[in-house]
Amino acid sequence: MFQKILIANRGEIACRVIDSCRRLGVATVAVFSDADRAARHVAMADEAVHLGGPAPADSYLRGDVIIQAALDCGAQAIHPGYGFLSENPDFVEAVEAAGLVFIGPSASAIRAMGLKDAAKALMEKAGVPVVPGYHGDNQDAGFLAAQAGSIGYPVLIKAVAGGGGKGMRRVDRATDFNDALESARSEAQNAFGNPAVLIEKYILRPRHIEVQVFGDGTRAVHLFERDCSLQRRHQKVIEEAPAPGMTPTMREIMGRAATRAAEAIGYKGAGTIEFIVDGSHGLRPDGFWFMEMNTRLQVEHPVTEAITGIDLVEWQLRVASGEALPAQQDDLTIHGHAFEARLYAEDVPAGFLPATGRLAHLEFPQQARIETGVRSGDTISPWYDPMMAKLVCWGPTRAIALGSLERALVDTEVAGAVTNLDFLTALTRHEGFRAGDVDTGLIERDLDALIGDTGPDSATLALAVIGLAGLADPQTRGGMTLWQPLRRTIAWEGGEAMLEVQGPGAACVTIDGQRHEVRWQGDRWWVDGALRRDRIVHHDAGVSVFGNRNATLTPLDPLARSGAVAGTGLTLSPMPGLVKSVHVTEGQQVSAGDRLAVLEAMKMEHSLTAARDGVVAEVLARPGDQVEAGAALIRLEEADEE
Ligand code: ADP
Ligand code: ADP
Ligand code: MG
Repeated sequence: MFQKILIANRGEIACRVIDSCRRLGVATVAVFSDADRAARHVAMADEAVHLGGPAPADSYLRGDVIIQAALDCGAQAIHPGYGFLSENPDFVEAVEAAGLVFIGPSASAIRAMGLKDAAKALMEKAGVPVVPGYHGDNQDAGFLAAQAGSIGYPVLIKAVAGGGGKGMRRVDRATDFNDALESARSEAQNAFGNPAVLIEKYILRPRHIEVQVFGDGTRAVHLFERDCSLQRRHQKVIEEAPAPGMTPTMREIMGRAATRAAEAIGYKGAGTIEFIVDGSHGLRPDGFWFMEMNTRLQVEHPVTEAITGIDLVEWQLRVASGEALPAQQDDLTIHGHAFEARLYAEDVPAGFLPATGRLAHLEFPQQARIETGVRSGDTISPWYDPMMAKLVCWGPTRAIALGSLERALVDTEVAGAVTNLDFLTALTRHEGFRAGDVDTGLIERDLDALIGDTGPDSATLALAVIGLAGLADPQTRGGMTLWQPLRRTIAWEGGEAMLEVQGPGAACVTIDGQRHEVRWQGDRWWVDGALRRDRIVHHDAGVSVFGNRNATLTPLDPLARSGAVAGTGLTLSPMPGLVKSVHVTEGQQVSAGDRLAVLEAMKMEHSLTAARDGVVAEVLARPGDQVEAGAALIRLEEADEE
């Protein structure tokens, strides 16, 4: 076994590799960019080396700097994680030329599988079923269109160099072919520097089922399958193992095809053979086809670990250090069922836009295996993949494992960045998914319902308002009402509510015209008579409520809220919105706190008030105007100015 290795990656996968190294007594060297100086993987490793600027090209993709760092630290091997340099054969050769071990397959095995067309040709030769289609060299548009016609629509155009769902277009009719080809090619050229494509039959009601393989360079075993059919735009969202509806016969046939594929290229280490499966009539041995091989540890490898009891990173290290395969095929068995959900910093209702932010509060439940690269207080930067964590849940049956995942998601607490947490929770409650009736179109078909079910409801907001008013903190709760008005407006970034304290342990909160009765005793809360299990958490960015629904309210600095810019007399729009009404006219005297205008934004009305006494010099907005954040709305002058 190695004494010390360098991990050429960041985030959760770097942390994951360090975990196994620790257990095996292997010292670790982390690498980091400017954006990751304080990152979790850096803190966890025994040593850390700075690489350069935050852009991957200046840091995690600098193979030469990484190899030099490994040599300088006396590391014997490099673990590439996934993404970045993990599937770069030139890097593998450079690592080996420097006298170091690459923890993964050979450069030639990566090359053999690197391009989808060559990989398909190779697999055909090895007797592995491939998706019917054209994967030859002729890239002439007319020729490809003719091929699509003879394959029969719908077809899928795929970039041969593709990955991460990029450069892929489904085409349903011949008339759409040329446009789709054009856009697939330009996306492929931009993302991979290679515009070549192949054409595949589009499998209807497809399921994505992949087989985990592990080789020693000659022989390979498989560690059964994972079902990754829950996808959005060809990207995996929730994965599970084993695949629902899998039969022992089908498993054996797919497993054998996968090991044949791995052995055909002398595969060493952990790899995944991805198959597309026709799920329209159950799983049938003649209804699965090779799609591609990922020559690395896969993001979703923990579900396989959960059902086999094997640590795949341990296996990677052992085989890379020269040991034989740690187990024979017959030693491997499936125990129970496991799910993995990918927690992303992304704005789901806004179209799954990647998000950034500082995680004012982050807490994960005990009952799940958590793979994460961030902690409370860390920042999600715009430089890398916005995946924050993976939640992995095991159970003796599929239903129990899924129930456990649902619970774990509900119990996950994040404040400071928008996430897909509610969306994931809604997925675990999806009837078809619960029944094991999965296909790659499930999410897209039911997207509206899955998204509609997310975001805080007004009862949860009411609890958060109680928190923001300081009533949820047992330390201050008693004294607050003595000196604070019984009836007051509580405002936060993006909204406001009316709070009426009715006595010790009772208040009314009105939000958006909806009135809620809130009562409390100790740490127990009731909203409109219903007992709530929510946790109210104070952190440095405000207050969060974590429960079935989550809400985070960030208090408003009163000056920022009125939009007044000190010294200028200008009242600016604090956010993009619609001017609902204007309550002053030019020449009018106003006092500090008077309402100047009402802005409608984010489905809420916001009063813009005068920051100080004065005279309205200019009214720059009219009701009905759509204004940008920062637009000047009203200008005040000192009352005594002439
Ligand atoms: P998985 O099945 O493990 O999710 P993906 O293909 O989605 O595999 O990719 C996993 C990781 O590798 C992601 O971080 C993704 O951004 C990265 N990745 C995959 N393919 C490429 C590529 N061709 N170029 C750069 N990054 C890639
Ligand atoms: P990538 O390298 O981007 O991961 P893949 O070839 O693995 O590309 O395909 C990604 C996803 O696209 C699959 O998981 C599947 O959902 C869908 N897909 C790929 N090929 C087909 C096909 N022939 N028919 C239907 N869906 C497909
Ligand atoms: Mg793939």
